[in-house]
Amino acid sequence: MEKMMCMLCGGTTKKEQVRYAEFGVPLGRFSAEVCQKCGEEFFDEKTADKIQAASKKAGLFGMGRKVKIAELGNSFAVRIPKDLAKLIKLKKGQEVSITPDGKKGFRIGV
Ligand SMILES: [Zn+2]
Repeated sequence: MEKMMCMLCGGTTKKEQVRYAEFGVPLGRFSAEVCQKCGEEFFDEKTADKIQAASKKAGLFGMGRKVKIAELGNSFAVRIPKDLAKLIKLKKGQEVSITPDGKKGFRIGV
């Protein structure tokens, strides 16, 4: 097979089996071209289809989305879509923890 070049750093890639997770849920191992320099993983179209099928099977496909921040008194409010809430069995009135995830996000835990 033809040697692939990393699209990010130009390093050479090698075919490897890599673990793939979506939203922290492991979906299994898939073959990828892995850059030996920067570690970036590239999946071919066939593998991308397989990953999408695994994601659908796990009920995760299309679960990531954008929502707008609302203001509620002295707080900001984020609406959590019901199907997303269902995924982690979130209920109305339930107490959750909210912790910063670096400086770019929050983690909501049940
Ligand atoms: Zn690279």
